[in-house]
Amino acid sequence: SAKIRIGIAGYGNLGRGVELALGQNPDMELVAVFSRREPKSVELLAGNVPVYALDTIEQYKDQIDVLILCGGSKDDLPKQGPHLAQWFNTIDSFDTHAAIPEYFAAVDAVAQATQHTNIIAVGWDPGLFSINRLMGEVVLPKGETYTFWGKGLSQGHSDAVRRIDGVKAGVQYTLPIEAAVERVRAGEFPELSTREKHRRECFVVLEDGANADEVRNTIVTMPNYFADYDTTVHFISLEELERDHTAMPHGGFVIRSGTSGNDVQQTVEYSLALGSNPEFTSSVLVAYARAAYRLAQQKQFGAKTVFDIAPGLLSPKSAADLRKELL
Ligand code: NDP
Repeated sequence: SAKIRIGIAGYGNLGRGVELALGQNPDMELVAVFSRREPKSVELLAGNVPVYALDTIEQYKDQIDVLILCGGSKDDLPKQGPHLAQWFNTIDSFDTHAAIPEYFAAVDAVAQATQHTNIIAVGWDPGLFSINRLMGEVVLPKGETYTFWGKGLSQGHSDAVRRIDGVKAGVQYTLPIEAAVERVRAGEFPELSTREKHRRECFVVLEDGANADEVRNTIVTMPNYFADYDTTVHFISLEELERDHTAMPHGGFVIRSGTSGNDVQQTVEYSLALGSNPEFTSSVLVAYARAAYRLAQQKQFGAKTVFDIAPGLLSPKSAADLRKELL
């Protein structure tokens, strides 16, 4: 049968990841990439499809079954999500948790009016972690849900470090505190403060002549970003930074600790250890593109989240094969 025709809107880390992930999914094909930048300036990894200006995208609406939105959550998706839903079925990784209801409503209004299927907030958090938090809560209604992140590179915290005077380059990792994870796993139901759950570690390259103690102090006392955590700052050379800190690892755990029936302790844990956050997130987006395509064919229009998508719709296998192989 014909392949599902995919477009990519926005070509950053996720855009590249989607291009790579499509190579592992033979039932889909990449048709085009759309960018706000001058198309000639955007170099694709494989480069075997055209790059078009995003503001010409309407003319390609009949050539694309699902458009995967790879813009940033802060400034791009709030505009692009509702706008592009007028012409396309879409998938996006909107991850501003508190703004999801508002974003959903904006996309849904367009999707209902124009009859498209638009799955928002897809990825791992929100996304796969959300599903696992839900499963934990429905199966063990009496209990607590804990999410720990890391070891992971935080883009926002790395940017905050790089903006400090005297810092030439740097990265920030978020790490779960193992002792806290162990207490949760042991069924202690601990109440954990911010500082007790995660710590932060920075690797910083100084400008010539910069004062290391001053930079360290500015980092560890920075409100919102670092002040509420125990933070370690390591000063390294640019060579070390480029050698050891260019990957974008991430991951974490969702743990539901609860008691069933006769006060019996039950623990459910889902964990991710990701060598590349964007490549993994993109792989999730691609699987959900398959579901969006099928739902659109069934005329199930509107905005949706991962909670609304049956797992079987994500698989290239038929429902009958899934019953045989995975049940
Ligand atoms: P990037 O900053 O790499 O890309 C965002 C946009 O910036 C691109 O779509 C692109 O748009 C533009 N851009 C990229 N590179 C350049 C460049 N060299 N010069 C100018 N513009 C550029 O973001 P990511 O792909 O890493 O992440 C996108 C979003 O995904 C994040 O904001 C985050 O919210 C979300 N995310 C969600 C996760 C989840 O689990 N739900 C996990 C990870 C990320 P254009 O081509 O139009 O210029």
